[in-house]
Amino acid sequence: MGTPVQKPDTDNGNEICDDQRPIALGESFFGNIFPGGHTGSKIVKFATMSKFTIAVHGGAGTISKKSMTPEKEAVYLKALNEAIDAGFRILEKKGDALEAVKAAVIELENNNLFNAGKGSVFTNTGTHEMDASIMYGKDLSAGAVAAVKNIRNPIELAYSVMKKSEHVFLIGTGAEEFAKQNGIAFEADEYFYSEFRYKQWQQVKGSNETALDHNITLDEKKFGTVGAVACDANGNLAAATSTGGMTNKQYGRVGDSPIIGIGTYANNKTCAISCTGHGEPFIKAVAAYDVSCLMEYKGLSLEEAMNIAVMDKLMKIHGEGGMIGVDANGNASLIFNCEGMYRGFCLSDGRREAAIFK
Ligand code: ASP
Repeated sequence: MGTPVQKPDTDNGNEICDDQRPIALGESFFGNIFPGGHTGSKIVKFATMSKFTIAVHGGAGTISKKSMTPEKEAVYLKALNEAIDAGFRILEKKGDALEAVKAAVIELENNNLFNAGKGSVFTNTGTHEMDASIMYGKDLSAGAVAAVKNIRNPIELAYSVMKKSEHVFLIGTGAEEFAKQNGIAFEADEYFYSEFRYKQWQQVKGSNETALDHNITLDEKKFGTVGAVACDANGNLAAATSTGGMTNKQYGRVGDSPIIGIGTYANNKTCAISCTGHGEPFIKAVAAYDVSCLMEYKGLSLEEAMNIAVMDKLMKIHGEGGMIGVDANGNASLIFNCEGMYRGFCLSDGRREAAIFK
């Protein structure tokens, strides 16, 4: 049997549903393309009218339970909670969803546990090329950068593109030039170096293989692309995503994360979404915007739409990964079709959770 698809609320979000619904692959109505893997989702709804919500992720993939000690798990959960706090503090003061997602992502970019900013993986030429995007659901304004080097916080740069440029998407040296003109912080190559990621790269270097950060087996594993979604007290939505991409990716390769409508999307009418996973299938699936379309044109709820996108459409094209989403009622959904996703959320009614596995 498959995932019981959540029925839309009869009273527009005024019902609590707080259930964990792991599904063993092979049992899924939506099909099994990752033998031995697992799926999971978390759907959190408000009991009363919308207040505010933030959700974050730190990547998804084949996260090995074997190599995860309680100590390591605690370190990751602490990092996720710090990112939640960074965004939630802003929302609590009636701040804007856009500022909240930026603050949460900066926190994760500065932590080299995650494959974004400081912890970015190596390309096939031994460089670090980072992608990031941010979108505001109130007016659909957006900013994105791809294949940028030496930028301390790529999400800051994406935000600057959104606020100060007439363009939405800048890449490579043009984006770096724009960063210089706008006072964005740069770091030397050493800032982005870590022994762990260097070893990761050595495992696949010289091959045509690219790897999701979290899927490379090493004694010391560090994981993922980062993202945040938020709904503020005014019902405004925002989403932000930042990544170093995939280990050993061809230099110049751009994944889903910086593409508006794919790795990141926000629209007050529907939802805010941030994705993580194997970028190429996510691009083919137009993943984030697909959730919004299913909500807007088919009238589906956030979780129904995300379930279709992650557990059906992406799985059919081997799109391993997951996404986090919020809607304008402050409901949150965190769904993945693989073994684990670093993730967490906090609602203004006090409900809060950070988790890795299903
Ligand atoms: N989506 C990212 C990419 O393909 C990787 C990830 O989410 O870990 O670049």
